Amino acid sequence: MSRAYPERASYLELSASALRHNALVFRGLEAAAGARRLGAVIKGNAYGHGFEETLPLVHPEADVLYVIAARDGLEVREREREHGWARRDVLVLGAVGPRELSELAAARVSAVMSDFSWLQLAGELRAAKLPAPLEVHVHVDSGLGREGFTAGELPRVAELFKAHADVLRPAGVLSHFANVEDVTEQGYALQQVARFEAGAAALEAALGGVKLERHMAASAASLVLPQSRFDVLRVGISLYGLWPSPQTRLSARVVLGEAPVLKPVLSWRCKSQAVKWLEAGAYVGYGCTWRASERTRIAVLPMGYYDGYPRLASGKAYALVNGRRCPFLGRVMMNHVVLDVTRAAPERDEVLATLIGTDGDETLSVEALAGWADTINYELVSRLGAHLERVVVG
Ligand SMILES: *Cc1c(COP(=O)(O)O)cnc(C)c1O
Repeated sequence: MSRAYPERASYLELSASALRHNALVFRGLEAAAGARRLGAVIKGNAYGHGFEETLPLVHPEADVLYVIAARDGLEVREREREHGWARRDVLVLGAVGPRELSELAAARVSAVMSDFSWLQLAGELRAAKLPAPLEVHVHVDSGLGREGFTAGELPRVAELFKAHADVLRPAGVLSHFANVEDVTEQGYALQQVARFEAGAAALEAALGGVKLERHMAASAASLVLPQSRFDVLRVGISLYGLWPSPQTRLSARVVLGEAPVLKPVLSWRCKSQAVKWLEAGAYVGYGCTWRASERTRIAVLPMGYYDGYPRLASGKAYALVNGRRCPFLGRVMMNHVVLDVTRAAPERDEVLATLIGTDGDETLSVEALAGWADTINYELVSRLGAHLERVVVG
């Protein structure tokens, strides 16, 4: 094990080759379609993989980067300048304030207009005397019931652009699905596609025939709903090698002939803080919920729910040591968990545990851990502690 690995804490391993592989899967979907572009969603600290560490892996693979926070968009521009990377299109999907909008315009980062607070924002942009108009994508609410304009509001959106042509340039139109992941039957999604197409066409016409870049498909729709791919794919979870849901995997098998192989980018490992014998009758952890029925070799790991390991997994979870499943004993604590290594490592004074990932011929998936904690892979990875050290491996 290289000396770059943390010695007294858990750490995340990021596989650069897995990420490249996943990007190629989505490029491959598009091989027949020609010039369609690949967008990478790096919100939520790059789905918990770590914005700083993941950006150099994602940036060369994507044509467009999607973030939620304005400061992340500006951060992409800084890294590009610092490292001499070729510029990518960057779009801030989330809500943005007036000061941030001026900074985005100056940095040539695009923003999403999704409600009429932009009437005021446009005025504030003019006062800021921008060097160039801000590029704007219009969010159409086609049925998610979250942000975006309804069809009836789009004529007023066109008026807004006309009144503020000196500061706002319409560049794209987007929408987001409500229900692709949860079903194998896509009736509602197809209604959303129809509404989006109608809205995009109406907006383009009202703007005097400008051509707007259209994008709608996140991971699941990119895989299982070819008619939603439009000009750019907006891929999040599956770029990190995770399936949006079991239903999506089933549907992909049907739609694509076979489900593509996605390779998980992230592993989570932790070296033991202490390994010791407990005599029969000893208790482990808060609440004394576990008691040794025989002499037991335990490994104390310095990680817990503070780091993003879900407490709800207490009593259900295992980790891998020497390629074997080792159950956690007692409750997950803030900074500690305790592992039974009696069979996996009876002679060892130190162990390396895998909390997510592969060890020997055993693999412990994000989905298994998410399942123990009654949640989904999206929540589990995006809540991994931002403080955890991330190590990029080949
Ligand atoms: C999160 C998000 C995505 C990516 O979704 P995945 O299911 O992770 O691929 C795409 N578009 C928008 C608007 C999002 O909020």
